[in-house]
Amino acid sequence: MKIAIIGVGTVGSAVATAVKNTGFVHEIVLFDRDGIRARAAAEDLGHAASFGFDVKITAVNNYRGIKGSEIIIIAAGANQKPGETRMDLLNKNATVIKDIIPRVMANVDTKNVKIIILTNPLDVMVMLATKLSKLPSSRVIGTGTMLDTARLRTILSRQLDISTQSINAYVLGEHGDSSVVDWTSATVGALTLDDFCRQMKISLPETTRNTISHRVRNAAYEIIRGRGATWDGIGAAAADLLRCIINDEHRILTVSSTSGTGLDMIAMSLPRVVGNGGIVATLRPKLSSTESAALRRSGKIIRKNYDAII
Ligand code: NAD
Repeated sequence: MKIAIIGVGTVGSAVATAVKNTGFVHEIVLFDRDGIRARAAAEDLGHAASFGFDVKITAVNNYRGIKGSEIIIIAAGANQKPGETRMDLLNKNATVIKDIIPRVMANVDTKNVKIIILTNPLDVMVMLATKLSKLPSSRVIGTGTMLDTARLRTILSRQLDISTQSINAYVLGEHGDSSVVDWTSATVGALTLDDFCRQMKISLPETTRNTISHRVRNAAYEIIRGRGATWDGIGAAAADLLRCIINDEHRILTVSSTSGTGLDMIAMSLPRVVGNGGIVATLRPKLSSTESAALRRSGKIIRKNYDAII
């Protein structure tokens, strides 16, 4: 399997590292408008690859070089500076997606290609890429709240002293400040979160849950304050999504994808079954009335920002 990564900055490089370490691809091509950066990344990653799986990693200086790639990962564009929100990147990164998507589409097999979007503000970029590519929305996928969900599970794992693998709890909606934790559907093993807490005599009152939701939403800000950008988490999330697609795993992931038409068209993260064809099915989560209202509000924010760049 050959894949391409467009944008080889902090995130693109981390994605390349994580993908190379899966052993599921034999070739990764890197494209960045900064050709020197892409070539340097390909060199460094190529050296790293010699210690693990055999993966050919090359930098290409034009889009013809991505021909034959079955999955395109887009990690190009401005990132958040300390204090900036993801929506602050809206206009800059809309220009980047408008530049990239037509060039990608001219060089891929449009019947099969899958595009994975990482660029922020993620959901709006997914909508834009879907519109510009004219691909079915099932094949233009944003990592969405996969990362936020990982953050939630990590915090809960520490709080409950239970492996993240046994926690099924999702963050839905915008990959951004209006994301919504679905506490109503959360389970630990086969127990509801509430049952689990009762049996284990753990107190998880609403105030604690609100604090956890707040920490999930603010995780990126804290990481950016501390290390300038985020990359390890998103690298792992992108590689996990790729693995799920390549192996046709039909796992449930909270990825972003566009649905609806006209004024109702919106991209946001919901629990979705992901396989070789991209998104296979979207599930309707069980939500409280407060969570439902928050999810509707999140959708309105995404749509308003999409309207501002169209
Ligand atoms: P960065 O500045 O380190 O790298 C961005 C790269 O994109 C640069 O190398 C730049 O040359 C390249 N680029 C810009 N415009 C381009 C174009 N038109 N064509 C080709 N290449 C282009 O930034 P980063 O930290 O790697 O972040 C990249 C994006 O990923 C940002 O939008 C950031 O917000 C986003 N991000 C998303 C998540 C997520 O969970 N989805 C997590 C972290 C970062």
